[in-house]
Amino acid sequence: MLKGKVALITGSTSGIGLGIATKLAEMGATLAINGFGDADAIEQIVTDLSKTSNAPAKYYPTDMSDATAIDKMMADIANDLGPIDILINNAGIQHVSPVEDFPTDKWNAIIAINMSSVFHTTRNVVPAMKSNGWGRIINIASAHSLVASPFKSAYVAAKHGVGGFTKTTALETATHGITVNAISPGYVLTPLVSAQIPDTAQARGISEEEVVRDVLLAAQPTKEFVAIDDIAEMVAFLCGNAAKGITGSNVSMDGGWTAK
Ligand code: NAD
Repeated sequence: MLKGKVALITGSTSGIGLGIATKLAEMGATLAINGFGDADAIEQIVTDLSKTSNAPAKYYPTDMSDATAIDKMMADIANDLGPIDILINNAGIQHVSPVEDFPTDKWNAIIAINMSSVFHTTRNVVPAMKSNGWGRIINIASAHSLVASPFKSAYVAAKHGVGGFTKTTALETATHGITVNAISPGYVLTPLVSAQIPDTAQARGISEEEVVRDVLLAAQPTKEFVAIDDIAEMVAFLCGNAAKGITGSNVSMDGGWTAK
């Protein structure tokens, strides 16, 4: 279904990004993989994805906080694999701290990786998508693109920014066969969430079990984490023809969190 389409998924060596890459591989896409991690594990991921898709898959170790490096990656992908048809902006990090103690370097990193990278990849792919008359841009935002939680000032600011950027770029590309949408998950049990449990426990002065029960899943009426595979299915749907009329949307997948 995506045979011959080139897809870049940022932050696809782990968690949600890896789940999306796996789904797009099952649909036959040619994949550009990005993110950090153990070199052997990443090599295995790329081999497995290429086997699944029966199409090329290539890894780009670009730091998504570096605009110049992103420009180079985008040019390299176009040379290596062809123009990008599907862009999934997914790379993201988190830091949990009261605002008065929030380290400036963490603020800058979160804004750069979670928000500004979305601008840098998007501005690079839009010209080729416009000349091809087709493109799909999907930004993995968060329930935190719609509502806030304490101690996550940079993350909430960045994700609200992604929500606004999604709407603006959707308007600018709407007559070119390009759709731009955000998906806003609630809590998904990935390394990003596991890693913030101890910090949240410390910031709130509660145990880690209480963080899961009373902070994370307390926000989600379903009382269940959102599944990576379900997010990947939503990406697949948004890439399909039936979603051609959906642009500028922010699709909540949060177990009812933002309905409250
Ligand atoms: P994760 O930690 O499992 O994966 C993050 C990915 O981003 C990894 O591949 C990592 O190597 C990559 N990455 C981090 N910094 C990078 C950098 N500077 N340059 C390039 N790659 C970098 O996290 P996840 O939970 O799968 O999160 C993926 C996205 O989903 C993020 O944007 C996150 O904000 C969003 N999200 C996650 C949840 C959740 O509950 N897990 C909920 C809502 C939204």
